Amino acid sequence: MSILVTGGAGFIGSNFVLDWLAQSDETVVNLDKLTYAGNPENLASLQADARHVFVHGDIGDYDLVLGLLNQHQVRAVVNFAAESHVDRSIHGPEDFIQTNIVGSFRLLEAVREYWNNLQSAEQQAFRFLHVSTDEVYGSLEKADPPFAETNQYQPNSPYSASKAASDHLVRAYHHTYGLPVLTTNCSNNYGPYHFPEKLIPLCIQNALSGKPLPIYGDGQQIRDWLFVKDHCSAIRRVLAAGKLGEVYNVGGWNEKANLDVVHTLCAILDELQPRADGKSYAEQITYVKDRPGHDRRYAIDATKLERELGWKPAETFETGIRKTVQWYLDNQSWVNNVLSGDYQAWLDKNYAGR
Ligand code: NAD
Repeated sequence: MSILVTGGAGFIGSNFVLDWLAQSDETVVNLDKLTYAGNPENLASLQADARHVFVHGDIGDYDLVLGLLNQHQVRAVVNFAAESHVDRSIHGPEDFIQTNIVGSFRLLEAVREYWNNLQSAEQQAFRFLHVSTDEVYGSLEKADPPFAETNQYQPNSPYSASKAASDHLVRAYHHTYGLPVLTTNCSNNYGPYHFPEKLIPLCIQNALSGKPLPIYGDGQQIRDWLFVKDHCSAIRRVLAAGKLGEVYNVGGWNEKANLDVVHTLCAILDELQPRADGKSYAEQITYVKDRPGHDRRYAIDATKLERELGWKPAETFETGIRKTVQWYLDNQSWVNNVLSGDYQAWLDKNYAGR
């Protein structure tokens, strides 16, 4: 038996695959379209590992997905594949509709066909876990309680609207067809292999290269941060013990204003790799025009996951962010490859024809 991970060359997916194979001998079939955000270099340590089967392809390719499910006798699917960057969704929503909605639909259809043809014991053991975001719940005011699983969906960006649509499809496939699904809605992740267009890796990289650290608007937008490996452990827990058809919010109770996050990064960098002129990296902070429709606050209530499934994050924001900064300092060649044509060359060399 094996599990099918989609989007396993992206930020969270690659962390999940690495963590999974560090703890289990079960084969991981990794289906990824390798968009700009998919980076097989994240999985370079698995090049010679027969337990990792990488397949270059689209979740929207019904025949491909059904073929993989049958060929590898898949017992669970974990769906990370998505277009995930809010700014990109504002400038060009089309890809978000195609992958997050149409792609998820075709993936569900292939999984439904496969699951219908399983023997009853295998049908009962099968799981489809859909990885989603807290952004589907919309934006909170300062005094509002954090998002619970019962909150109404109020997505505000094309990204969150497309994720909300996929969450609804997953729910409907459970209610209509009995497909054994689970959904997780997680807060903002940070950690190793984060594409350097997102706030934390962008600021670390810009700081080190002497560039401005851009802060949208007043920098008081609040996000709830979770170290990526804690998200991975939550997904493993839900996959193993979650109740079918249920939704689990995942978060670490770490609400921070964006400006405070950037100041924290600057303070850690000042300590670990001081600027040549002895000044603080905070001098590079620059305020830029706010993103249109920017949600003010996200916060996750993870009580259900903690109480019912006994999950707890291993990292606090302070320990996780320090590990993250250290990882970027230790892996500058990874960042430089992502940011340069070398990444494309590496891709062509190592993954030609796959
Ligand atoms: P990412 O953009 O880093 O990775 C997405 C991966 O999916 C990439 O490897 C990409 O090549 C692949 N992909 C895109 N379209 C595909 C398609 N049609 N078929 C197959 N593969 C495709 O994203 P991420 O930050 O790792 O997020 C993974 C999932 O977790 C997403 O579903 C996202 O909505 C969700 N999520 C992310 C966060 C976060 O903070 N990053 C928080 C909560 C939930």
